[in-house]
Amino acid sequence: MHQNVNTAEKASSTSTIPQKFVYFFAAGEAEGNAGMKNILGGKGANLAEMTSLGIPVPPGFTISTEICAHFYEAGGKLPEWVRPAVTTAMAKVEAKIGKKFGDVNNPLLVSVRSGARASMPGMMDTILNLGLNDQTVEGLAKSSNNPRFAWDSYRRFIQMYSDVVMGMNSSLLEVTLEDMKEDKHYKADTELTVDDLKLLVKKFKELVHQMTGQSFPTDPWEQLWGAVSAVFHSWNTPRAITYRELHSIPASWGTAVNVQSMVFGNMGDDSATGVAFTRNPSTGEKAFYGEFLINAQGEDVVAGIRTPQPITKIAAQGSGMKSLEEALPQAYSQLVDIYKKLEAHYRDMQDIEFTIERGVLWMLQTRNGKRTAAAALKIACDMIDEKLINQDEALLRLDPGALDQLLHPTLDPKAQKTLLAKGLPASPGGVNGQIVFTSEEAVEWKEQGKKVILVRVETSPEDIAGMVAAQGIFTTRGGMTSHAAVVARGMGKCCVAGCGEVEVDYRTETMKVKGYVLKKGDVITLDGSTGEVYLGEVKTIEPKLDGNFERIMKIADQVRKLKVRTNADTPKDAQTARNFGAEGIGLCRTEHMFFGADRIDAVREMIIADNKSDREKALVKLLPMQRDDFYQLFKIMDGLPVTIRLLDPPLHEFVPHTDEETKELAKRLGTDYERLRAKVKSLHEFNPMLGHRGCRLAITFPEIYQMQVRAIAEAACMLIGEGKKLVPEIMIPLVATDKELDILRVSAINEVKKVQQEKGVKFDYLVGTMIELPRAAITADAIAEYADFFSFGTNDLTQTTLGLSRDDSGRFLGSYVSSGILPKDPFMSIDQTGVGSLVKMGTELGRRTKPDLKVGVCGEHGGDPESIEFFHKVGLDYVSCSPFRVPIARLAAARAALLGKKLH
Ligand code: ADP
Ligand code: MG
Ligand code: MG
Repeated sequence: MHQNVNTAEKASSTSTIPQKFVYFFAAGEAEGNAGMKNILGGKGANLAEMTSLGIPVPPGFTISTEICAHFYEAGGKLPEWVRPAVTTAMAKVEAKIGKKFGDVNNPLLVSVRSGARASMPGMMDTILNLGLNDQTVEGLAKSSNNPRFAWDSYRRFIQMYSDVVMGMNSSLLEVTLEDMKEDKHYKADTELTVDDLKLLVKKFKELVHQMTGQSFPTDPWEQLWGAVSAVFHSWNTPRAITYRELHSIPASWGTAVNVQSMVFGNMGDDSATGVAFTRNPSTGEKAFYGEFLINAQGEDVVAGIRTPQPITKIAAQGSGMKSLEEALPQAYSQLVDIYKKLEAHYRDMQDIEFTIERGVLWMLQTRNGKRTAAAALKIACDMIDEKLINQDEALLRLDPGALDQLLHPTLDPKAQKTLLAKGLPASPGGVNGQIVFTSEEAVEWKEQGKKVILVRVETSPEDIAGMVAAQGIFTTRGGMTSHAAVVARGMGKCCVAGCGEVEVDYRTETMKVKGYVLKKGDVITLDGSTGEVYLGEVKTIEPKLDGNFERIMKIADQVRKLKVRTNADTPKDAQTARNFGAEGIGLCRTEHMFFGADRIDAVREMIIADNKSDREKALVKLLPMQRDDFYQLFKIMDGLPVTIRLLDPPLHEFVPHTDEETKELAKRLGTDYERLRAKVKSLHEFNPMLGHRGCRLAITFPEIYQMQVRAIAEAACMLIGEGKKLVPEIMIPLVATDKELDILRVSAINEVKKVQQEKGVKFDYLVGTMIELPRAAITADAIAEYADFFSFGTNDLTQTTLGLSRDDSGRFLGSYVSSGILPKDPFMSIDQTGVGSLVKMGTELGRRTKPDLKVGVCGEHGGDPESIEFFHKVGLDYVSCSPFRVPIARLAAARAALLGKKLH
């Protein structure tokens, strides 16, 4: 009873039946367009758009993404009311083509294709040649006058349908086919004769019955409903879910289904299928670039069944292969016209799929092509120069997160290396690691802290988790557009693909090449920029950035409002960040300075001191070291703002934890072991995150902060003495009440004054605070009375607002995100509604007290593009992030400014 009420509520609270949900497209009439990606999916919207542009597209129709939700609401079944609209659209396709679906003489065959808003390569399964059965195959053989083609299409259909719709393990049929090829000594699928194919079809159907207990469906309509349902179903397969999580695609979007009349690339030597990019997706070079196969169908090119041929003559040079330009010149020149038209129309690099049926070209897909970060920058700069796009558009197109790729290491050209083999340079970068042969092992080994290279004959969507875990990916089959290549580029991960010289044996878990036999666990090095594979570990070097990068960064700097600082504790980090364009240090964590081998004992002496004077004695030892640290940082930052956070972590973090270490320390400090042990024990806390740390340390032991402030002030005096300018920013952490800050501010100011008097030097400085506790954000107006600046410590603010410890959240946070309770991991991207509201409120309250209060953020979120967009909206002055994320933040801040302008 109760259950029923719930279901009823659920159904009525979601979508109502849409007025229109089937969109037809055929020459002269497309009901959709490129702007309708939300309901037609990317593929469907672009098929409609291409049709309207007068580009040859096989007629068909798209069932909208809205139906996906209805499908799940109906318990994973296609609602009855969907069917009439589909049969009507099918009749329109029949009328256009002059063939009938299910007709035994001249059957119309269709493909059933998925298509979400965002392209999800390889995530959803396509079914081709649907509508074939023992009768229609004869009709197709007769009407095409090509029985081989008809039976080849039929066996392909059974393979795809039994796999995707009937849930059968596709490798069973694959093995049957391979066995037959071996028996007959065939190399390629194309050698299979009509009789072979007929026999295969028979065997396939028997196997399907054996394995699934069901007969292969013969009724074309039953086939169609099955396929449409399977596409909707595939939206929630584990591999689709993994991909969505990786790319932050909401589960609610759903997929559309495209039903499209077939064109055939497997009709003989005047037929072909291929994929291409309008510019090189690896380098961005302006050159038409792609691969095709003669007498093939569908995904043969990307599946790596045969080695695909290059499309252009130039690319084929020296390969011994025939290009499309030479093999089918007419279709080629038509393809060139179309790709140019598409690129000019979409004003972006396109990734296109086409099929040539008996010399006639058909377009099956276009979308904005995925590309490496280097290619993205080059294409953006080139398109600005070509006046195809303006500077703002160029920025809006670039994915800030992808810049990360450019900052990856490459192989040291001077390093000694032993070349094993050369494959395709599928995705750049230089990596080394231990080889593993399964995705599962890649994940396991990674968890054990090992660096691994995933070695596969080819990859499939099941390998995604392993690809994520691996440093790099290596395959022996497949081209530049193979699954491995496309997915690796998307992830910014190094990949060498299609390295046919290497023989990979899954059974023995070995890879063999040039007399070498490498076993699981052996180390290799990949160069994804050249396709080379080396024996053992080759040294890598830090990347250099090219002119396109500099140019885009300059454009971004002109546009952005947010300043970008860095979190840096060492001179090296500070220098790296400056090279990447950091405009100051937003967070220097002084505790990192305490851990140095030369000073940790002095720190410990200070901690275990029983009284103030002992503590001060130890602090005196630390003072010159801290002063030197600050001096170095100030010097490198050369007048740019530097925020120094005074000691934050609880003291027990610095003391030894084992009896052994405690004994040794007692000896070194010349103190009693028992006394030391008792002291260490007394520092124990039940919940250190919320314990005696941050400004609470200074309330009880003011000497610690006084020493640090003195070190800052003395370093400042030294630099002023050298004629330098600087305005140090002293930051007090973990403040909950204005009283705390009041007390510590007075203490800091007194210390600075003392130093200034002693040295006879004056300089400006700021004293501010971290806002990292909800109470501080809520009472920010009072706190601002004593603060010259605020810096939101969003890591701790996230922990304290959500009441969860980052270190302990691993067990449940994942399921919170996958079940949609939280939209994202709140430690990666700021929880805008919760934590974000506190940031907004704290900023507004603080500025109510001090209108020109400087406000920044220094949590992990300062380097996350989505969070940066939020911080821009809230009106912060700056974000601070780790050195390698500085370029990402510069671009993200510029995009935030542009997006903000668009809205107003
Ligand atoms: P994906 O989303 O994985 O790219 P697609 O739906 O694009 O899958 O289908 C994969 C391939 O199947 C296409 O590139 C094309 O070669 C082939 N294909 C799809 N529909 C048709 C069709 N109507 N006629 C001929 N080939 C088709
Ligand atoms: Mg596919
Ligand atoms: Mg496709």
